[in-house]
Amino acid sequence: MKLKSAATCLTMLLVVALALPLFPATAASGMEGERDKGALQKNGKAPLKKTAVKKRTAKSKGAKGKNRKRKVIYRKKQLKPAVVNEMRHWTNPDYVRIVLSVDREVEVEHHQLPADLAAGLPPRIYIDLKGARLGKGVRDIPVAGGLLKVARIGQYQKDVVRVVLDIENIKDYKVFPLEDPSRVVIDVKGERPVEISRLEPVIQVPPGVAAAVPLPKPTDDARPAADFKPAKIRRIVVDPGHGGKDSGALGPGGVMEKDVALKVALKLAKKLHDELGIDVVMTRSTDIFIPLDERTAIANKVNADLFVSIHANASLNKSTEGMETYYLNLAKTDKAAQVAARENNTSLEKVSVLQAILFDLMANYKINDSAQLAAEVQQELFKRVGREYRSVRSNGVKQGPFYVLVGATMPSILVETAFISNEQEEKRLADAKYQDATAAGILNGIKAYIAALK
Ligand SMILES: [Zn+2]
Repeated sequence: MKLKSAATCLTMLLVVALALPLFPATAASGMEGERDKGALQKNGKAPLKKTAVKKRTAKSKGAKGKNRKRKVIYRKKQLKPAVVNEMRHWTNPDYVRIVLSVDREVEVEHHQLPADLAAGLPPRIYIDLKGARLGKGVRDIPVAGGLLKVARIGQYQKDVVRVVLDIENIKDYKVFPLEDPSRVVIDVKGERPVEISRLEPVIQVPPGVAAAVPLPKPTDDARPAADFKPAKIRRIVVDPGHGGKDSGALGPGGVMEKDVALKVALKLAKKLHDELGIDVVMTRSTDIFIPLDERTAIANKVNADLFVSIHANASLNKSTEGMETYYLNLAKTDKAAQVAARENNTSLEKVSVLQAILFDLMANYKINDSAQLAAEVQQELFKRVGREYRSVRSNGVKQGPFYVLVGATMPSILVETAFISNEQEEKRLADAKYQDATAAGILNGIKAYIAALK
């Protein structure tokens, strides 16, 4: 990412000029000006400088003169600072995700500083949220105990909130905005201190990840098949879509996506656990709300090898039917973009903004592995369900920009099991037999993926 190299060039200057104070003695300490050119993410409608507006307009397709004019007016009107009202974190020895909740989009700039041995400082990342105010009650995260040592947050300048992360070691990091609600996500990868195979088989879920519910150990009568060795895949996160206040799509008969997603996911988790002997962590196992960014954070935190998100599809066209499996990438079709917009709980326009961000980040994701996993799952799902329900159709493997998959460091897919908006498929989704066939199909797909790894 070009900003990172810009950051490196500026590192010396910054160290001398700032030594990274959270609260500088003088507000205008030369942080403005040239460094603004290096801002990494400009998703903001916050008080943007003219250069930023121009750049953003030039980037967005089809933004002609008319749009630009409107944006400039918008900029002038919107002078009230955005409020940063929460800082959450997940960390393990290898990974940390920080999520900053903001009441609207902001412009973000970030830099990396190497360890300063003389001063006894670890590597640091600092993130400036421009045109932002720190909300009440947002506090530092003291010694977090994983890759993240400390996170400090403060009002660095009148309209700049600064977050400083002291990190044990930094292999790579990414900063990206998510919207609806507005958030800034910071993902940091460290050098993995232990191999997955050496991890304890039973997951200890720390209090910070209360939503992640590991399944109980298999009972004696449900031992994994002796001839099946999962090898590289030791732990899978199963993510039932939606939950709590977010019911997901609603069928014509009143069936809610969140309920059927949970039922299929629970069945899948049990099968993975009992039949393959794989550790399973569920992002939720009851009807509770979990933000999309937290779901991937859980998967990264527990060092999962695969991430599988379970959903039901919806369309305005009531006759639309079939199963489809997605992996994270730019949407190739309008329909795929619409599915992503619905699952992200956002507009099509916002999806195109996310696509632009994804384009920069994509090299970091396991796209090929995810595509392979999606292909196996889609094929086996169709085969297995089609055996009992002859009329089902396969809509194939697709790709789209799904928030819930952004930042996952392992192969990850999102399965749209059927169309809940279709009367017949809604009835099927609510039926335990169909749910079971669906879970068995996904299981077979995962099994085929694992077998191909050897
Ligand atoms: Zn969904």
